[in-house]
Amino acid sequence: SLKGKTAVVTGSTSGIGLAIVRGFAKEGADVVLNGFGKPDEIEAARTKIESEFGVKAAYSPADLTKPSEIGGLIALAVESFGGVDILVNNAGVQFVSPIEEFPPEKWDQIIALNLSSAFHTMRAAIPHMKAKGWGRVINTASAHSLVASPFKSAYVAAKHGISGLTKSAALELATFGITVNCISPGYVWTPLVESQIPDTMKARGLTKEQVIEDVLLKAQPTKEFVTVDQVAALAVFLCGDGASQITGANLAMDGGWTAQ
Ligand code: NAD
Repeated sequence: SLKGKTAVVTGSTSGIGLAIVRGFAKEGADVVLNGFGKPDEIEAARTKIESEFGVKAAYSPADLTKPSEIGGLIALAVESFGGVDILVNNAGVQFVSPIEEFPPEKWDQIIALNLSSAFHTMRAAIPHMKAKGWGRVINTASAHSLVASPFKSAYVAAKHGISGLTKSAALELATFGITVNCISPGYVWTPLVESQIPDTMKARGLTKEQVIEDVLLKAQPTKEFVTVDQVAALAVFLCGDGASQITGANLAMDGGWTAQ
């Protein structure tokens, strides 16, 4: 049980982050949501967590590409719930382009969000974890932290970077009761992925099954998507006593993608 713990999950208004934040709340943790979206939908997700799981949930609209707003996210957790015990750096975006056409501002945005924001949140949260002699940092990396694909230079660089940051932090914090790990999903079934299918069917003249198997899951040997709840289950496991000796690890959940 995570009762009495406080969890901050960045980018938790949608997809993987929302599943992780709900997974922690189900175990009894108070949670801080963060991310963009329609205010009424975010408020509905927040109050649903409180009523469904009997915990407290706060929301921070901090834009994590801006270091100046990140302090406020951690401060909200400390002011609302008395600390930060679990930190999940999950917010991330993708941009696909050849390097010579890659807009420099897109490069800067992806490095800021997918990599640097984790440095800034950790910098602010670690003193609170050290004070309690317990902490869990989980970074949502990607199969692209282990292998590359063309045209995703910023994303692949940021995800390889977060794998390195994870290892360095794990070594620094090894004797403080704080573990630091990354979860590296392959293709995860999210509304974002699902909504791409009809357009791809039209553009390539393929059936839905062909798009899924030959385009989306080309690199994923199981030919099945990871689910957001499976990622959340691993995040919950990493917070338990059974995982206290797992630190500095990059845990793939990719249907065999990176075994190839
Ligand atoms: P998503 O688009 O559903 O969620 C992204 C979240 O980040 C949203 O809550 C969004 O509001 C938030 N966000 C975006 N920009 C932000 C900013 N500047 N500041 C704060 N929050 C911001 O995507 P997802 O698929 O759930 O992805 C979550 C993480 O998982 C990302 O780091 C992504 O790289 C990683 N990932 C996803 C997949 C996949 O197949 N979906 C695979 C591997 C890794």
